Order: sequence, then structure tokens, then C-alpha cells
Amino acid sequence: MLKEQLEDVERRIQAACDRSGRNREEVTLIAVSKTKPAEMIHEAYQLGIHVYGENKVQELAEKYEVLPKDIQWHMIGHLQTNKVKYIVDKTALIHSVDSLKLAETIEKEAAKRDCIANILIEVNVAEEETKFGLKIDEVIPFIQKVAKLPHVRIQGLMTIAPYVENPEENRSIFANLHKLSVDIMNKNIDNVNVSVLSMGMTNDYEVAIEEGATMVRIGTGIFGARNYNI
Ligand SMILES: *Cc1c(COP(=O)(O)O)cnc(C)c1O
Repeated sequence: MLKEQLEDVERRIQAACDRSGRNREEVTLIAVSKTKPAEMIHEAYQLGIHVYGENKVQELAEKYEVLPKDIQWHMIGHLQTNKVKYIVDKTALIHSVDSLKLAETIEKEAAKRDCIANILIEVNVAEEETKFGLKIDEVIPFIQKVAKLPHVRIQGLMTIAPYVENPEENRSIFANLHKLSVDIMNKNIDNVNVSVLSMGMTNDYEVAIEEGATMVRIGTGIFGARNYNI
């Protein structure tokens, strides 16, 4: 089942790339493994998937310990400052930076370990009250501050679009995040590269790819529905 679902996702990613004239290599598939057991990740690993996304610090740290060391772990969930220390040297990329306090904590913990932390800025493009992330207007001033932190490297932007019946409804959200990244690039801020656009989930990743996503975060489409009651 996992194999077939992965093949289906892969086919759709390729088709979305073809439709929008993009190379498949421009889009990284992040398999969102939250709530799923390590054995299932191991199965996906053996099918060639080496990039995983988790949204809870403890779960990420536990899976990190038991799974192969060449896995790239992405922190995609809201991150509390007091938990940064548990994952800062275990993650390839933190997708959910949305406050100066969090960025400064990442700086401090990365400096202690003499490593560079790669981050994305989370943007609440849809301005949903229930979601984390900066508003579009807040992003450039925020980036100008974070760019001064020597152990933090901004790589791009991330957004979580609303759940919608028809993924076309999210197209303008993805287009707006893309446009924001172009505006930032045009400012040529030192130490800032925003070439990564993490956008698109099971329900809307094809539209996101058509609008320029370079990372798609897919859970249900690969691993099946999640059970939060176990
Ligand atoms: C859970 C989650 C996903 C994956 O969602 P699916 O709809 O299962 O693909 C993607 N991004 C974030 C931030 C998530 O928390």
C-alpha cells in the first residue's frame, strides 16, 4: 500500500512539474510522518524516501535516534523556544520560524553547538486567526533582523494554506507567497536567500507546484489517514 501511494504521489508531482514547465529536481518531497511509527518510516526509507517532516519535538527526537542517520529531518510544526535545544542539531531545516524570540533562541543553541541552523519563515498568507506565522507585511522587516544572526540561515518561506474542498481556492495563496519571495530577492539583503518555498500538502500540492513550490509536505497521501487517539 505504501509503495502504491508513493508511486501515485510521485506521478502527480511529475505531472504538475510537466504542466508548469518545471524540472522534477526542483521539487523536494517531504514525507510527513507525524503520528506514524518508526517501522513505517523505515519501510518508506527502503523505498527511497530519505526526507521526513515531523511537527512535534519529542517525536522527531525519538525517531531520529532509532532511524538511519542519513535521513533528513524537517521540523514543520510550531516550535516553542524552550524545545529548540532538543532538535537544533538534528534538523536539516526548521520550517516554522515566526518570531524574533524563536530566531534568537535558535541562534543561541546553534552557536553553542557550533552549527548553522537552516530556517524558513512561516507566513500566514491567508491571515487565518487560528494559524501561526507572520503577515505578509511583517516579513521583510523581520528578515532584516534575522539576517544579522550569524548561526541562522534563512533559506526561504513556508505557508500552511487553509483546508479547502477545491485546491484551486488556494492557488492565489501560493502565488502570493511566491511573489513575496521575488520581492525579498529583489531587496538583495545580505545573508538572505529565499529560494525555498515550502507549500502544498496532500490536498493541494499539485497547485502549489504549479505556483512554484520547491518543497511539498505530504502526509496522508503517502502514509494514509492519521489516528490521533493512539
Ligand atoms: C500534518 C502536516 C502536513 C501534512 O498534511 P497532509 O494533509 O497529511 O498531507 C503538512 N504540513 C504541516 C505543517 C503539517 O502539520
